[in-house]
Amino acid sequence: MTASDTTSTTLSGIGVSPGLVAGPVARMAPPIPEPEIATLEPSRDIEKECERIALAAQQVKKGLELSAAEAKAEARTLLETTAQMAADPTLTSTAQAMVREKRLVPERAVWESAGTLATMLESLGGYMAERTRDVQDVRDRIVAVLTESPMPGIPRLPEPFVLVAADLAPADTALLDPEKVIAFITSEGGPTSHTAILARALGMPAIVGTGEEVTDALAEGDIVLVDGTKGTITINPSEDALRRARELASRVRVFNGDGATKDGHEVQLLANVGDAAGARSAAEAGAMGVGLFRTEFCFLDQPEEPTVEAQVEAYQGVLEAFPGKKVVVRTLDAGADKPLPFLTDATEANPALGVRAYRTTRRDPEVLEHQLEALAKAEAATEAKVWVMAPMISTADEAKAFTEKARSYGLKTAGMMIEVPSAALMADKLFEHADFASVGTNDLTQYVMAADRLLSSLADLSTAWQPAVLRLIGTACEGASPNGRPVGVCGEAAADPALATVLVGLGVASLSMTARALPDVDAVLKSVTLDECRELAKIAIAAATAEEAHTAVRAKLPILEELGL
Ligand code: PEP
Ligand code: MG
Repeated sequence: MTASDTTSTTLSGIGVSPGLVAGPVARMAPPIPEPEIATLEPSRDIEKECERIALAAQQVKKGLELSAAEAKAEARTLLETTAQMAADPTLTSTAQAMVREKRLVPERAVWESAGTLATMLESLGGYMAERTRDVQDVRDRIVAVLTESPMPGIPRLPEPFVLVAADLAPADTALLDPEKVIAFITSEGGPTSHTAILARALGMPAIVGTGEEVTDALAEGDIVLVDGTKGTITINPSEDALRRARELASRVRVFNGDGATKDGHEVQLLANVGDAAGARSAAEAGAMGVGLFRTEFCFLDQPEEPTVEAQVEAYQGVLEAFPGKKVVVRTLDAGADKPLPFLTDATEANPALGVRAYRTTRRDPEVLEHQLEALAKAEAATEAKVWVMAPMISTADEAKAFTEKARSYGLKTAGMMIEVPSAALMADKLFEHADFASVGTNDLTQYVMAADRLLSSLADLSTAWQPAVLRLIGTACEGASPNGRPVGVCGEAAADPALATVLVGLGVASLSMTARALPDVDAVLKSVTLDECRELAKIAIAAATAEEAHTAVRAKLPILEELGL
């Protein structure tokens, strides 16, 4: 969609991470295509071609080392490891041998040599198999030098910029430095894809699913204003708009760890975390505890099940950040968009509907047992209050089996995620077993609306503003109340300040979100009473469409405009 006045043009996509920033566009180079199988012309000097390979590898190694020197913590380690791979003589010497023996063009020789090396590393398993991605990264970079193509990956520029890409791979997102990349825009991706979740975790305004026509219209160096709330991109914004962006950026909001409505009704504001570093920064941001620890994030790259000791260490790191506080730990949610090589059947036709999450215990019950054992040990070694829950519980039998199993390991508070419509509809029965529940609105929306959460083309369906989703959350809360059980929300809906008021009105007791969202959600909740939240919930579930619900609720919350949300 495009709107323009005399000087500026406004384009739009799906706003997935709020915030208003302005800066120059830097485009991410497209992926390097596989070079054709071609041989050198007779006039070419074989040894010179071999020398070009060595020089290209050197250049790539130096470039990666330079980036590593400028990068922080996790990104630095990743870049250093990749630089070591570029310095590894196996890749270049095998490629040079292919040039000498088969007269292959250097770019094809590097591609094939990398393929051989990757297969070898994979066969070794463990840490070595994890290096396959580095080999591919180095391969692409060397081929880019040899073919004089733009270097793949996140651009390196001295000034902060707005990154424009088709999509971001997990390896790219790990390297995003929020001081350099102030916002990103992708032509692909949906509102609850993990790229979008990461943008919110980094507190970086982001717009996804714009379609190629929009990203193609953004030229290198164009000054753009990115509004991550509205999902709009303005090329050549007015001076007034730039001033407002600067003013909002200079306002620092904090959360004091006291989530409540205006009339003092407590709402626990918790953090979603994936590792110890995330937990520490969430604690610094004032989170009252952890409402979702995605344990699978600790092991996404691991080809084999982590040992109990390795798990204890990973969990302990998170628990230590919250002494005396609640930490809700979710057991492995493997499958669909988060496959774990040791737990996921990659051949299923419909993985989102398949043996994912808690269902993997049908095939591999011992993986859950090891995890519960590790968690109980980590709890014993720290002072956090562990609540454990399983993802995608669908029936009362599953709720019973999981909670009994967890308690048999000494974990006292055992609950479930409500992500499948059946669990919300049958909540009263499930709560006979579960001590608590947390609604995963990302998956609940996906399953209620039958809309793949990764598809940008279905973004209008993939929103928890859909009244059908809100009604089901209301049903889940009603099912919990006779048993006096608390229901939280830990999906992305909890980080939307307007929706947060609706969720509280529906009876939700805690909201768990990326730590960056805590101040905004807190500020908006403190502007309304519990009765007003209930009123907003009524308005939202009475609406006929998601848009109607959203617009009607926003209209009653003038604070959103004041805060630029
Ligand atoms: C959810 O589905 O809302 C949720 C919190 O889990 P995940 O996003 O990890 O699937
Ligand atoms: Mg989920």
